[in-house]
Amino acid sequence: MRLQVRKGAYINRIMMSGNISLYQTCKCFTKHLPTVRMPVLCSSCSEKRAVLKRPKTGLSLCKACFFWAFEEEVHQTIVAAKLFKPGETVGIAASGGKDSTVLAHVMKLLNERYSYGLELMLISVDEGITGYRDDSLETVKRNQQQYELPLKIVSYEELYGWTMDAIVKQVGLKNNCTFCGVFRRQALDRGAIMLKVDKICTGHNADDVAETVLMNVLRGDIARLRRCTAISTASEGDGVVPRCKPLKYAYEKEIVLYAYFKKLDYFSTECIYSPNAYRGYARTFLKDLESIRPSSIMDIIHSGENLSVREGVKMPVQGTCNRCGYISSQALCKSCVLLEGLNRGLPKLGIGKHHRLHEKILSQQPLTESEERKLKSVDF
Ligand code: SF4
Ligand code: ZN
Repeated sequence: MRLQVRKGAYINRIMMSGNISLYQTCKCFTKHLPTVRMPVLCSSCSEKRAVLKRPKTGLSLCKACFFWAFEEEVHQTIVAAKLFKPGETVGIAASGGKDSTVLAHVMKLLNERYSYGLELMLISVDEGITGYRDDSLETVKRNQQQYELPLKIVSYEELYGWTMDAIVKQVGLKNNCTFCGVFRRQALDRGAIMLKVDKICTGHNADDVAETVLMNVLRGDIARLRRCTAISTASEGDGVVPRCKPLKYAYEKEIVLYAYFKKLDYFSTECIYSPNAYRGYARTFLKDLESIRPSSIMDIIHSGENLSVREGVKMPVQGTCNRCGYISSQALCKSCVLLEGLNRGLPKLGIGKHHRLHEKILSQQPLTESEERKLKSVDF
């Protein structure tokens, strides 16, 4: 018999989406049971009882066969894209959420199972979000003990002198994720350099990549659209550590199921500042598409991978920031501009295109009254 079981926030959400099933014995036969079926056998081993229907393939699998299939697919992704070389030190970007917890678990497991010869470490970024990141970092600290991996935490407060709590007070909830995303990228690199790692791997999954493709199409951001489907990026300059995404082809739903059945210790609360994130709209749209056609996620990724940019299209030229030395296509990197805006009480400085002001900022010339007026106002 089949029963849709609700357990935990994520499981609850994926169950509600309607195209996933967990198979369990039910103790009652009341009307809430939509269908009554005979136990389904695992379509891989044909011995054990299936406990789930894979969102990716539609196959009904038992726990052990699902674990094996999931882990093997990540291994194949790593091998096919030659993500690592023996002897490398790899920093796993760990937030305490489901993706990075599954990534840390699977990386440790595959490193041992297939003798990758990697030295693994955890790197976490503390954005300074009370009631969210402080709690999730506790999960990372437990993961550090469970997986016996070294951990480095870098904080926005220590790197930039600002916490996200303080930034939101100044900029409101409309553009906060712009600040957070730009600062996080640089903070991870700084943490990786402190740990002397050769590579950073992040928990971006197939849904994240598909969302990013959609967002870049909607924004018309050709440069990012060309880069965003890459499974690994080479170092783009000093201070930038190469990155890769071993979970690039793993569906979010399967990551949730993997974490759930493995009983991994992860943090599942959403960021308290997230409701207005632009990404949220792309995510909702993607989930709607997925509910009609589960392959939409992979289709969008493949579309992004196969897009070619017409010759002659102008691309930003990468240089370095004149202030901090981080990669930048402008005189100042985005992080330095955002920081300058915060420190001067002009939060709009880094939002939108104010490149012509970079030289003024660098040479510490005062801005005109009308320039300051435009950069001060923020819609909360
Ligand atoms: Fe930062 Fe926005 Fe993510 Fe919250 S939702 S952690 S503010 S990027
Ligand atoms: Zn800079």
